[in-house]
Amino acid sequence: MTSVPTIGVLALQGDVREHLRSLTAVGARALTVRRPDELAEVDALVVPGGESTTMWKLADAFELLEPLRLRIKEGMPAYGSCAGMIMLADRIEDGVTGQQTFGGIDMVVRRNAFGRQIDSFESDVDFAGRGSFHAVFIRAPWVESVGDDVEVLATAEPGGRIVAVRQGPLLATSFHPELTGDDRVHAYFVEMVRKDGEEL
Ligand code: GLN
Repeated sequence: MTSVPTIGVLALQGDVREHLRSLTAVGARALTVRRPDELAEVDALVVPGGESTTMWKLADAFELLEPLRLRIKEGMPAYGSCAGMIMLADRIEDGVTGQQTFGGIDMVVRRNAFGRQIDSFESDVDFAGRGSFHAVFIRAPWVESVGDDVEVLATAEPGGRIVAVRQGPLLATSFHPELTGDDRVHAYFVEMVRKDGEEL
């Protein structure tokens, strides 16, 4: 992997611009992905926060569902924040009827899980043992359960819920690091991309 990886941000819906900024700030070449030919150009992909039901329907309409599933199966690194976490989950709870994901991470993610208690909140979490991280949650999902190959990178109050995970080249957070100007999660992802799925 070159030292300046090309990382796409899935730009169907959601907070695309914020992710482009964070990725650029940590030394990646960042570009938007809306079409299969654009997906083919990138080394890795960020799936932004937004609304997973809309993202799923647009990915279907833009004929990106299958190409994305294939790239993920082939080992493309991907990072999903919030709605993006939902999109990378193999299984979801509280989805709308028929809701599909790209999948890749062996976990069950509950949509709007924190949102049933409180719509949005902020909390300090310890991310990947790298110190305290100020996390912003907006109608956020939590991870209900994970398979054996999934590493838990952060939990949050209320409830000590799992809010960040990694499985090989795939990373997901319930919160939105792209909104706070603290680019350490993006730096972690770019490091993952450079190291090609190895331990950090
Ligand atoms: N609740 C949204 C969903 O289901 C996620 C919210 C977010 O990304 N901030 O997709």
